[in-house]
This record gives sequence, C-alpha cells and structure tokens, in this order.
Amino acid sequence: MENDEAGHLRVERTVSGIRTMRAVWRSQGRSIGFVPTMGYLHEGHLSLVDLARRRCDSVVVSIFVNPTQFGPTEDFADYPRDLESDLAACAARGVDLVFAPGEEEIYPRPQTIWIEPGPLAQRLCGRSRPTHFRGVLTVVAKLFAIVEPDIAVFGRKDFQQALLIRRMVEELAIPARVELGAIVREPDGLAMSSRNRYLDAREREAALALSRALRLVRAAFAEGEADAEELSCLARDTMAGAGARVDYVEIVDPYGLDPVERVSAHDLCAVAAYVGDTRLIDNSPLGDPCSLDGTGSPLTELRT
Ligand code: AMP
Repeated sequence: MENDEAGHLRVERTVSGIRTMRAVWRSQGRSIGFVPTMGYLHEGHLSLVDLARRRCDSVVVSIFVNPTQFGPTEDFADYPRDLESDLAACAARGVDLVFAPGEEEIYPRPQTIWIEPGPLAQRLCGRSRPTHFRGVLTVVAKLFAIVEPDIAVFGRKDFQQALLIRRMVEELAIPARVELGAIVREPDGLAMSSRNRYLDAREREAALALSRALRLVRAAFAEGEADAEELSCLARDTMAGAGARVDYVEIVDPYGLDPVERVSAHDLCAVAAYVGDTRLIDNSPLGDPCSLDGTGSPLTELRT
C-alpha cells in the first residue's frame, strides 16, 4: 500500500481516497508528514520531502496548481505541469502517497468561505498580489483538513507564505506543526523555482541578479553598513542594472515583516523582480541564519 524499496507510490485523486489512507495510518499509529506543492518538482520541493521523511512515518505530497492564488492576469494557465515526472521524483524520494486532485475535487462549487489572511498579507508580495495569500491560506487549510498532517513542511523561499501559514495554524488552532526547509539554489545561486523554466538564456542570466543582490547586501552588512535604505539601494541597483524590473526590495524583521531602519543580523532582506514576464522572489537573512521560530538553521544561508 505504501512506498517500498522498489518505489511503489500510491497516487490518489480524491479526498475520500486520502481519508481512507489516513484512517489506515492512524490505526497503525503512524505519523504523517505533508508537503503541499504546485508540482513541477525540483530539488527545493524534494528537500522538503526529505525533511518530512526524517520526521514522520509516512509522507504525503500534494500536487495541485491552485487557481485561487493566481490573480486574473497571472500565469495560472501557463504554469508548468508534468505529473509523470513529478511522480517519478516522488517515488525515488520515498514518498508514500501523492494527492493529485483535479480542480473540481478541491473546488466542487465556487468557494464562498475564505481564510482572511490579515495585515501581514498586505506587505511584500501582497502589494502586487492582493488576493494571493487569501487563496494560499484557503487551499492550505483545506488540504490540512483533508490530509490531517502531524507535520507540514514549507520552504523559506516563500518566507511570507510560511509566516502566514504559521499564523493561521496558531490562530485557528490547527493541530499540525509547521516546519521550514532551507532555500535550495542552483550552483550559481539562483533560487530554484518552477517558474525558472520560463526563462530564456538571457533572462536566466538577469535572474541571477536577485541572489547576487542578496549576497552583496550581506557582504555590505558584514562590513558594517547597517542602514536599511543604503542596503536596499544596493540591492535595487544590482537588480535594475542586470535588466530586472524591481517589484520590491525590503529589509524587514522576520517575525512581523515590519520594515527596519537599522539592520541587525536576524533581519531579512526580501526581493521580488520581474525578469521579462516572469516574477521571481528571493530572500536571505542579513547575517546569522534565521528561522521563524528563532532557532536558526545552518542550511538557509546564501554565503557571502
Ligand atoms: P510551490 O510548488 O512553488 O507552491 O512550492 C511548494 C513548496 O516548496 C513551498 O513550501 C515552497 O516554499 C517550497 N519551495 C519552492 N522552491 C523552493 C526552494 N528553492 N527551496 C526550498 N523550498 C522551496
């Protein structure tokens, strides 16, 4: 029934299929780790699978391109999809169950009840994507109700999203623990993203400016520059100079996302920019490794 050494992976498309499996596992006393994704899996996603694998007896991955988190002019229709290769990757990484629902399974009728994400969702990405986090939190709440994970794993790549999901879990008393995985990068520093696939060779080069900007900011901070405006300008100039259209550069405290003026090591520099039509995001702590729970992680670092 579950993944064994030979990579037998169970794939369910229905909520009832997941609930059945969940009941079996519960009766066996197995803990469930859950990694929600939109598919087109890369090492970033798979590192979260590895983390879930280490923590839990059974690992569930969901693959669902959630329409409600895309704005009307965004890339929902074009978002890359490749279920076959995603399933192969999941099998190879020891995933037990993939939940790959159709849209009608998650939204059998138009959604009328939403999770209202509150003021944190108006910052950073929320300014250019005003309905994004409402869609994310609503689908994640739904997936949590279906899968009932003990632990759910999200990536620091989407730091604001992870923070909001933590808040939702706390404020709605959802009985799951949210763990975060480090940002996985290409060897040249580009943060892995399913959207990198939109980039042609020239854009791929320009996209490198996001991680380069973060590295330069970290280096300047390490040399004593603590003025957020100066550091932000450095990042902005780096990205604009490479031909990226800056959406935002912000240095914020990693708990409330409040902009800071004088920077300290645990603050976060978050950037978003358009390269061609592709919107990319990245972030890094200024100095020390940071995490949402304050414990730090040696894995997060973009080395200067
Ligand atoms: P997505 O499929 O883009 O919705 O992402 C699914 C999960 O993978 C989210 O928790 C993301 O934060 C995480 N993720 C995406 N890219 C990366 C990456 N490069 N490193 C670590 N986690 C990532």
